[in-house]
Amino acid sequence: MARQHHRCAYCGMGFRESPIIADGLDFCSEACIQRYDDHPCLRELPSEFLEHKVAEASQVPCPKCGGPGPINAVSSHRVFSFFFITYFATNTEIGCVRCGRRQCAVDAALCLLLGAWGFPIGVIGAPIQCVRNIRMIRSLSAGDPFKGEFRRTVLDDLAHRLEEEDSKASAATP
Ligand SMILES: [Zn+2]
Ligand SMILES: [Zn+2]
Repeated sequence: MARQHHRCAYCGMGFRESPIIADGLDFCSEACIQRYDDHPCLRELPSEFLEHKVAEASQVPCPKCGGPGPINAVSSHRVFSFFFITYFATNTEIGCVRCGRRQCAVDAALCLLLGAWGFPIGVIGAPIQCVRNIRMIRSLSAGDPFKGEFRRTVLDDLAHRLEEEDSKASAATP
């Protein structure tokens, strides 16, 4: 059975989970719906151009270690327990594959150190999230599709530049 494939109307990311639908368009997240409303200047640009901008922005030195790109967003999992209360959080950072692996390894260790002693959720949840982080260390690769968080950072930047040029142009016309 062929799995459904969706493409976010704002960031252009392809994904399999069910989309969030707004105004008849598919979105990957609430963050993209918000930006679609905030940055109408990007709507007229062809998706190939935006895709090219995202790819171009990934081919820069890593902002964390200064090593060679490509860079992308990496989301790892954190678990913190305080006695009977356990918090789950997603830690998203932008960097190269090497930094992404290190981030997942650190968060895997933090899950066990800070999460696993909470009862009862932490005892069960922390090892599960730890394993998810360890799996990610192995699966991360330089050829991974660009994540929504990375795409949004690049497109936000592009939108701000276009809006700035726009306001300069309209200020210059008498
Ligand atoms: Zn999106
Ligand atoms: Zn790095």
